[in-house]
Amino acid sequence: MRPTAALLRRLRRGLRRPSLGALIIFLVIVFAAARGPLRTTLWPGGPDAAPVREPRAEDRIVQIVDGDTVIGAVHGTIRVLSIDTPESGRPLFDEATAALAHLVGGKQVELLFDVETVDRYGRALAHVLVADGDARLLAGEELVRRGLASVFIIPPNMLFAERLKAAQKEAVLNDRGLWALPPPAPEPYYIVGAYKFHRPSCVHAAQIPNPRRQKDRKAILAEGKSPCRNCAP
Ligand SMILES: [Zn+2]
Repeated sequence: MRPTAALLRRLRRGLRRPSLGALIIFLVIVFAAARGPLRTTLWPGGPDAAPVREPRAEDRIVQIVDGDTVIGAVHGTIRVLSIDTPESGRPLFDEATAALAHLVGGKQVELLFDVETVDRYGRALAHVLVADGDARLLAGEELVRRGLASVFIIPPNMLFAERLKAAQKEAVLNDRGLWALPPPAPEPYYIVGAYKFHRPSCVHAAQIPNPRRQKDRKAILAEGKSPCRNCAP
């Protein structure tokens, strides 16, 4: 009995030591794994710093469709989230397309998904990030800052909304790109919603909850509101 008990004690001690060591190593690995994404967090602060665990994916951009749509080798057609660029034939279409091509064309990019990851046309919806030296650029934000895209926020996809609105404010106040073009036929006032603004006659203006009337178009744009695509105010 005695030798057996001693053997068992020794066995337990022997087991206990390596298992404690293994536990420490395990915890170190878990801690390092948990820290990993934090180190690569692109936006260390700010009003809408990217969450650490948001879905991400890598892709390589193989084709540029226009200023807000690209084709990735993995994800196919990708609509850049929360921006809108001029349609073909409209002023600055070529400039917006060329700017996006310069930023991400042929490059390895990181896609950041928001709540809705695919639209009704089957396109992937994502923010597109690209390396720029040690930093990373949010492609959509760059276009908005240059006045080549307007902010186009569609809830529930709110990631980077505040950054994009700030970029549009900068572009509008500096009369860049779209905001240097002659404004469309003015209205005595506009109907302003949470994300867009309209001409008073627009059918969509009637659907806005808590609409606000405002006269100063530039001030509305500087707030980061999108011109309605139907009434083009
Ligand atoms: Zn409208």
